[in-house]
Amino acid sequence: MLVLDGKIASKAVKETLTEATKELIELGKRPPHLAAVLVGSDGASETYVASKVRTCEEIGFQSTLVRFEDTTTEEELLAKIEDLNNDNNIDGILVQLPLPKQISEQKVISKINPDKDVDGFHPISVGRLVQGMETFIPATPYGIMLMLEHFKLSTKGRHAVVIGRSNIVGRPMSILLSSNLLYGNCTVTICHSHTPNLADITRSADIIVAALGRPGFIKEDMVKEGAIVFDVGITRVDDTTAAKGYRIKGDVEYAGVSKKASAISPVPGGVGLMTIAGLMKNTMDAYNRRQK
Ligand code: NAD
Repeated sequence: MLVLDGKIASKAVKETLTEATKELIELGKRPPHLAAVLVGSDGASETYVASKVRTCEEIGFQSTLVRFEDTTTEEELLAKIEDLNNDNNIDGILVQLPLPKQISEQKVISKINPDKDVDGFHPISVGRLVQGMETFIPATPYGIMLMLEHFKLSTKGRHAVVIGRSNIVGRPMSILLSSNLLYGNCTVTICHSHTPNLADITRSADIIVAALGRPGFIKEDMVKEGAIVFDVGITRVDDTTAAKGYRIKGDVEYAGVSKKASAISPVPGGVGLMTIAGLMKNTMDAYNRRQK
């Protein structure tokens, strides 16, 4: 059984980006620059944004963290995005989700210049993805594609079951795996909260991507012998024995499923690390495309 170790695969991506950034500096150019916008002080969002900023530093990218109170208005946030759109020194813009209730996520996402949409959530980016055009792939599905590539896991003709249909994970994942790509060409089934007999479907899967946000949902008896399993889930589960008072749990019951799977990504240390690697690759791509 192969552990799809996100530390190893993301290190390889980051090393390539670090090298490319060094070359830019040697040529007298500025490095890629990512702007991250954080509204409020949700613990998980703080952690995600901090690790994105830290990874920029590690690679040699520039980063700017823009913070807003959770009482911020939609107008204020949209005005800031307009500024970032017009700032020639910023290559990529990400707005950490979720946003407070008074702000429309759709309006905010649509305000980002598609050329700087490194999260790949803008309707134009999604349309381009669906049509197989050059685009920014949402970071988590992109990270999974990079993991397939790193571990050279063949996908052609295999049955992939994606559980979850969100715009940020499940839906784009299903599009990528069904696309005519080196690590695509799967027959894809996309499942969601209204799918009956889910276990019958997962038992026929060669590849499972679990992105539903229900800790330990995928059990050993739901998985075929030899399946490849990607666990996307990240849920904070209260645990008084843990130093922080909680533990991060994935959607897959690792101990049981790993007995049957041929490859499985752990949580933590799997897809989450690849998500950041995907975002960093998108930032470098945004930089390169804007230089043309
Ligand atoms: P979401 O809540 O937007 O979507 C969940 C999806 O799961 C929905 O489409 C829903 O229909 C489906 N679902 C829920 N219960 C189900 C059930 N019982 N059977 C079948 N389908 C069911 O969530 P999301 O934003 O896509 O995130 C999913 C999980 O992935 C969360 O735990 C989230 O924290 C995690 N996540 C991880 C990363 C990462 O980098 N590893 C990135 C994004 C999200």
